[in-house]
Amino acid sequence: MSCNNMDKISIIIPCYNEEQALPFLYEELQKVTSGMPGQSFEFIFVNDGSKDKTISVIKGLHKQDERVRYVSFSRNFGKEAAIYAGLKTATGDYVALIDADLQDPPSLISEMYEILTTDSEYDCVATRRVDRKGEPPIRSFFAKRFYKLMNKISDTEVVDGARDFRFMKRQMVDAILELSEYNRFSKGIFGWVGFNTKWIAYENVERVAGETKWSFWGLLLYSFEGILAFSTRPLHIASLFGILFCIIAFVMISIIIAKTLIWGDDVQGYPSTICIIFFIGGIQLFCLGILGQYLSKTYLETKRRPIYIVKETEEKP
Ligand code: UDP
Ligand code: MG
Repeated sequence: MSCNNMDKISIIIPCYNEEQALPFLYEELQKVTSGMPGQSFEFIFVNDGSKDKTISVIKGLHKQDERVRYVSFSRNFGKEAAIYAGLKTATGDYVALIDADLQDPPSLISEMYEILTTDSEYDCVATRRVDRKGEPPIRSFFAKRFYKLMNKISDTEVVDGARDFRFMKRQMVDAILELSEYNRFSKGIFGWVGFNTKWIAYENVERVAGETKWSFWGLLLYSFEGILAFSTRPLHIASLFGILFCIIAFVMISIIIAKTLIWGDDVQGYPSTICIIFFIGGIQLFCLGILGQYLSKTYLETKRRPIYIVKETEEKP
């Protein structure tokens, strides 16, 4: 095996209200690290403005284990911001991203490390779930539609069932950090930066404690974010509608001219005129809405606001 004894592995854990899950996770992480004595580790807990005692649990872990580092946000900035902060803080040659709720089996970390060190062809090992067991059917339905649509209208591949659980080489981490955009859609960013990714699959596991932070609407809005961030195709819809309606109008005008010449001019078709005005008005507002969405994203990007604000870390409490 070509494992380098000096390799340092950073494990990033975004945490939002995870006081119950963290002790279980830490125990699992310790099992992993004691099984890999040749490598050194750091655990980076990113406290994403939790409202429970997450930060004191993390501080407790830091006291008993110096490998535990943390970044604590001034408020909840979302998982994407937490991932970015973790990647920025990580100093390892290899970086793993893992959820706090044990839905991502930490035991896979040693397998992932093995893959990257023995097969130099790969830069990253990513995971996807083979099933969506334990998930409401309606959520699975929309999730499937989303991945289909996303892959159709965007050049960046987004893998169905992909989780954020992944293991990367330093080079890929640096590439991701270069993308300092404010509207972050990690699943797209991971694909966009490229590199060779090996996918491994595992069965869906229920979270160990606490509850999911995602409501159905939250996920739906998040999927729109993804589309806006990685495709400009919706902007073309306006042009397509424009061309389509010009053609329809041209045909209708020809018909009306012909009818008037043949049968004379009666005032007819008032209701249909109103319907058409409403229809076209609706389409125009719809297209304006799409424009507005992109404009609002651009607006937020040009403000150049920080992606997150740090309240404290283990270095300067
Ligand atoms: N998370 C976060 N900030 C948030 C929401 C979630 O850091 O605003 C973290 C959360 O603590 C967990 C991970 O992101 O470690 C995944 O969240 P969750 O388990 O709620 O999502 P699900 O697995 O249901 O998709
Ligand atoms: Mg979860």
